[in-house]
Amino acid sequence: MDYTYLAKLSTRQKLWFIASVAAGLLIIALGILFEPDRPSQAGSEFTISMGIREIAPKLGVTGKGLARELALPLETPKRKPLNELGISQEQLDHAVAHILSHRLTGLKYYLFAAIVLFGLVYLTCLGRPDNANISERKLWYPRIPYIACLLAAVVVCGFVLGKAPNPMEGIVKVFKSMVGLYPSVISKLLALVFFVVLAVIGNKLICGWACPFGALQELVYSLPLLRKMKRWKTPFWLTNTIRGGLFFVMLLFLFGIVGGRKGFVIYHYLNPFNLFSLDFDHWLMLVTVVVFLILALLIYRPFCYLICPFGFLSWIVERVSLTRVKIDHEKCTECGLCIEACPSQAAKGIVADKLFAADCFSCARCLNVCPQDAIRYGSVFSKTSCAIPQRRRTSKK
Ligand code: SF4
Ligand code: SF4
Repeated sequence: MDYTYLAKLSTRQKLWFIASVAAGLLIIALGILFEPDRPSQAGSEFTISMGIREIAPKLGVTGKGLARELALPLETPKRKPLNELGISQEQLDHAVAHILSHRLTGLKYYLFAAIVLFGLVYLTCLGRPDNANISERKLWYPRIPYIACLLAAVVVCGFVLGKAPNPMEGIVKVFKSMVGLYPSVISKLLALVFFVVLAVIGNKLICGWACPFGALQELVYSLPLLRKMKRWKTPFWLTNTIRGGLFFVMLLFLFGIVGGRKGFVIYHYLNPFNLFSLDFDHWLMLVTVVVFLILALLIYRPFCYLICPFGFLSWIVERVSLTRVKIDHEKCTECGLCIEACPSQAAKGIVADKLFAADCFSCARCLNVCPQDAIRYGSVFSKTSCAIPQRRRTSKK
């Protein structure tokens, strides 16, 4: 990190930095302390002479959930031995391995919370030194703390701890449990609430700073390659229509309203989080990862804007987020510098006071460009807040 920036931080800010790192480490230590012993990943105890009813509870899924993994109809007789249903031992082993790969590590929830906490403190308290002079704004919000969090998200929350839990699964599993693929709707709902609360505390901070696949896309996009092509920003009306439409179609298939196969989950084939467990049980999953990482070289977070159902939900939730990018419209001259700095159409929407602006991933790129000091990251309750976007009082054009 630039020494000049560090030297300019006030004592108050240095204390905040130390406190946020210490709090993050404490949260992680608690996560390690409360992490239950991980269940054995071996599925060899299950054989095809057993029935679905015998196996499913030991895997923590419902009979319907195991039937779906075995590509059997959900209403398959659950007591019948699997060999009588035409299932081979290889198919069973594969299904068991896949279900076990979804087993959650509670530690990851603590890590998500620790990263979001640090991101929140950085954006609201540390990014710009107290009493900073606007002429030094280029020093503000150095990228290193952000990149460090993104790397931690990819390496630790991704490759080390595996694909689950993650925000995308958080929402999908709620609906899967509603059609009987998981035993408890409440536990899945609580997991989703956790992610939503983090998204509300800091505007999409869970997506912007802690989600492993979101972080990987962010890192790929940040590579200094194809800079000229990155100037093109995907129209939000288009990406959001695709993302919302896909979510609607997913519900139609999952509930059997279309396709007649209740429990069919489109996102299963488009789940890039499989990368973190190297578990590609369908070729489409690998294609999804490759295609979206290549796209991420040119387009900002293509998976988040085009596919992810949690991205869609957290975009809706942005309306009530407690801290976010705010524009002081008294100062703003609409010069467009923040719009140019923003990798998506989010800043454009924020400057124009749009109620449904494009998702803002709290990446901080726009926070050190404004010559009028009209853009800040802060609480919607603070003096310069714009909690709910209001129509512009006067046009400055
Ligand atoms: S929108 Fe992107 S960052 Fe957010 S959960 Fe989905 S993949 Fe992750
Ligand atoms: S640059 Fe865009 S996405 Fe990043 S914080 Fe600013 S408005 Fe949000």
